[in-house]
Amino acid sequence: MNRRMVLLSIWAVSFAFLIFPAVDAASFKAGVAKVVITPDYDMWMSGYASRDRPSEGKVHDLHAKALALQDGEGNRCVLLTTDLIGLPGRFSEKVATIIEQETGLPRAAIMLTSSHTHSGPVLRDDGLEGMYFLSDEQWERVDRYMRELETKLVSVILSALDNLEPAQLFMGKGTAGFAINRRQYNLDNISIGHNPIGPVDHDVPTLKVVDANGKMKAVVFGYACHNTTLSFYQFCGDYAGYAQYDLEEQYPDALALFWTGCGADANPNPRRELAHAIAHGKELSKAVQTVLNSPMKEVKGPIRMEFSQIDLPLTPAPTREKVEEDLKSEDRYIQSRAKKLMAQLDRNGKISETYSYPLQVWRFNDDIIWIAMAGEVVVDYALRLKHELGQEQTWVTGYANDVFAYIPSLRVLREGGYEVDSSMIYYGLHGPWKPEVEKLIVEEIHRLMQRTKAK
Ligand SMILES: [Zn+2]
Repeated sequence: MNRRMVLLSIWAVSFAFLIFPAVDAASFKAGVAKVVITPDYDMWMSGYASRDRPSEGKVHDLHAKALALQDGEGNRCVLLTTDLIGLPGRFSEKVATIIEQETGLPRAAIMLTSSHTHSGPVLRDDGLEGMYFLSDEQWERVDRYMRELETKLVSVILSALDNLEPAQLFMGKGTAGFAINRRQYNLDNISIGHNPIGPVDHDVPTLKVVDANGKMKAVVFGYACHNTTLSFYQFCGDYAGYAQYDLEEQYPDALALFWTGCGADANPNPRRELAHAIAHGKELSKAVQTVLNSPMKEVKGPIRMEFSQIDLPLTPAPTREKVEEDLKSEDRYIQSRAKKLMAQLDRNGKISETYSYPLQVWRFNDDIIWIAMAGEVVVDYALRLKHELGQEQTWVTGYANDVFAYIPSLRVLREGGYEVDSSMIYYGLHGPWKPEVEKLIVEEIHRLMQRTKAK
């Protein structure tokens, strides 16, 4: 072998060693799909106890959208976004189980999220049933909608997985300022209002998915703010819906997918008028476009996914006598909760003092640590997790896999207020949570992170 051949073969070996594993792990495939999920009929709308009649048409359609990804090792995952108040846990598990059976995807690979629009239909099994006082006919519509929704969500996920094609991923972070902390501190209580000096998370984490020709096929973005600009009687995705529509108008070949962050204690400011929702949607879309028009960091594989459920502890359950007393309450929401708790007592002999809480972590190489938390999560969790795991790469999605209650931090629990106490009445839980919930949740997230690294 002459010297030149030796050099060449060394070069070839190094090339194979250095390049091929990296290319393999980095070469993604992506598939997208979307489906309209606006009810074809008028229905009671979710999110506010104060509505007194069913919906009256729509301003635009609600959607479910799916982005399926596969890394160079063949690991697949799928993100589902929905213009809905929040997917109930039992419903999410049903959808995930069907996907698991059809495709072999493990539970950890399926992230089911919601925009928390308060201008979507009432759903069954999200704990909020006691907040609405519907006729049997209205409940039948809810059940019919849930059946249709299940079919649609399964099929949109399957079609995204069926359409995988070579892709590259890029990430960046924008900012939008319309979320304002809503925990207003008065002399003797904490009400929902404006707290301009309260903590908020104005980040707009953005993921760009391009095809083999460099054309954008999807953009995923998040924002930590209640999707509650509107409280009227027409179906609408609120600011998150408008942001997605605006982006899809700017990039007609791309699908725009929105997820909600830890915005449980933030509201859009200002709110109530359609023009406000449109303006916030534009601001959010502009923030995403600024990221898309700037240099973005390429995201590498492999993708590592973990999922677990932990028991979150509630304060001790009320006695049967206390529940009986609440059944006679003049407050119809306390009465409604008491009915639910009494049914539990009769069925199981006790009221559960824990809730099985799902947590999920997706790690893309060391580029993105994507945490999906269930429930209405307050901002402290996002700020803390970004501080502990890295400001640039940590994304915290709330309202994922199950929306069943508020998830206050220790600070918020100590302070009290709607997110701690009265919201539990609407969710039909005896609550509040015990002070250790923040510690338990954050420790489990770190544990899941370690598991993604051990693989
Ligand atoms: Zn909410």
